[in-house]
Amino acid sequence: MKKLALAIHGGAGTLIKGMMTPEKERSYKDALESALYVGYKLLESGLSAVEVVEACVKELEDSHLFNAGKGSVFTSEGKHEMDASIMNGKTLNAGAVSLVSGIKNPISLARDVMEKSEHVFLAAKGAMQFAEKLKYQLEDENYFHDDLRYQQWQEIRGTDSFKLDHSAKKDSKFGTVGAVACDSLGNLAAATSTGGMTNKQFGRVGDSPMIGAGNYANNKTCAVSCTGSGEYFIKGVVAYDLSCLIEYKGLSLQAAAKEVIQNRLLHIGGDGGLIAVDALGNIAMPFNTEGMYRAC
Ligand code: ASP
Repeated sequence: MKKLALAIHGGAGTLIKGMMTPEKERSYKDALESALYVGYKLLESGLSAVEVVEACVKELEDSHLFNAGKGSVFTSEGKHEMDASIMNGKTLNAGAVSLVSGIKNPISLARDVMEKSEHVFLAAKGAMQFAEKLKYQLEDENYFHDDLRYQQWQEIRGTDSFKLDHSAKKDSKFGTVGAVACDSLGNLAAATSTGGMTNKQFGRVGDSPMIGAGNYANNKTCAVSCTGSGEYFIKGVVAYDLSCLIEYKGLSLQAAAKEVIQNRLLHIGGDGGLIAVDALGNIAMPFNTEGMYRAC
């Protein structure tokens, strides 16, 4: 049996000082701990890495604390448009959805795209039609509503900004969730799910559903889930870049993860972090922001 490994994240951003009360901190820790516990139990019982990362991400999507599923951020039109992706490191099969609404667990829809369609990536109306075909039940807007997210949207509603990059709020912008795992057979998988960025417009799609940018898994190298300023993770093809540094340059997981987050991403102006595992059960969780909700 191989060494089991599991890491999860709840986004590379922390609540601004003063907003993080001991109670809130406890609730973030509890939510991460319970998602990790659920996932680890499944890993121990012999479930595959794909099943485990999906289960962990579903737990985090079901918590209003994170920007994925319930608690997703508001678009410029006051709606929720979610993105998710999943990848199987053994087969290199992948599934992704983007701009979906009303879906309680976008990560499950991404997995269905991977396993029940001939495609990798379905977006917007097409993704919704696919969900309908599989008889997904739709939740109404209220299910996804969270007061803090609403307040964040009110602060920039009606402007062109979708970054929330003004000083005090700088680090409150990310809350994407993700999971990476190495199962008992040494198979890897990665899953990432997000509501995107507050006040996003024009059908904006971030890195989270993009295989190679915000999510990637390959048994030969590693499984990666990213969080941060999506546009830069796309330009830097961050998740695949990390895998390439291991495959082509022979870097260790730790060294490669540090290189992409602390050097390459910063160099192009991006902020965020990632979680990664390799087939030996090593884990890396670097970030260049003030904090990143994470557990392993
Ligand atoms: N990477 C996500 C996006 O750009 C945001 C996040 O990590 O919270 O959509």
